[in-house]
Amino acid sequence: MLEDKLTELLTEGGASLVGFSQIDKSPIDGQPELIYAITLVYKLSDSVLKTIEDRPSISYFQHYRAVNARLDSLCLDAVRFIENQGYNAFPIAASQSTNDDKSAYRGVFAHKTGACLSGIGYIGKNALLYTKEYGSKVRLATVLTDMPLVRQREIIKGGCGDCDICKRACPAGAISGINYEVGMARDDFFSADKCSSHMKTYKDVGRGAVCGICIKACPKNKLK
Ligand code: SF4
Ligand code: SF4
Repeated sequence: MLEDKLTELLTEGGASLVGFSQIDKSPIDGQPELIYAITLVYKLSDSVLKTIEDRPSISYFQHYRAVNARLDSLCLDAVRFIENQGYNAFPIAASQSTNDDKSAYRGVFAHKTGACLSGIGYIGKNALLYTKEYGSKVRLATVLTDMPLVRQREIIKGGCGDCDICKRACPAGAISGINYEVGMARDDFFSADKCSSHMKTYKDVGRGAVCGICIKACPKNKLK
């Protein structure tokens, strides 16, 4: 199966998890055939996450960028594999720039959409993806393709329940405490604007691009 071959290729290259899904509609203008998504997951280092206290650390910022680069490299491996099979493939970078509407904080495609549809995880109250294997100690990337792919995992339902630890830990007040449900807009439970604005206060450690306090605070992310 092509799913097995891709999983083997990407996990041998360092991916922690690989998932497959079919999305409603291609996000790429003029390429409606790109409706299958490969979700790549790379686990973050527990040791590095431990360095986040009441603010991010320079080690976290450097690790965050290194993991993004590895994910982007793995996407290229997937693209080459898919094109060699005679199909089209479109890599979506791990860390995407915002689109024209600067207040929307959205990239070309939401990695978490593909991740949830593939059964790799669910979205927590802090708008992060939670995986059974690694909690939210992960970064994500996606490859879109017209190569038919079949989901290989069961869909996972949300698991935050009554917990509000990240809501209380977030210095930006970005987390409302509402449980995410499928189809809900992000703005209905999480303020990307407040989160992003707060990150910009950490110019000295991450050029204003990282925070991570809610990852460190979540009890589902037991750090080894
Ligand atoms: S990354 Fe920081 S500012 Fe953003 S939601 Fe998490 S704790 Fe709040
Ligand atoms: S801290 Fe609690 S509410 Fe927040 S993401 Fe983790 S489990 Fe969910």
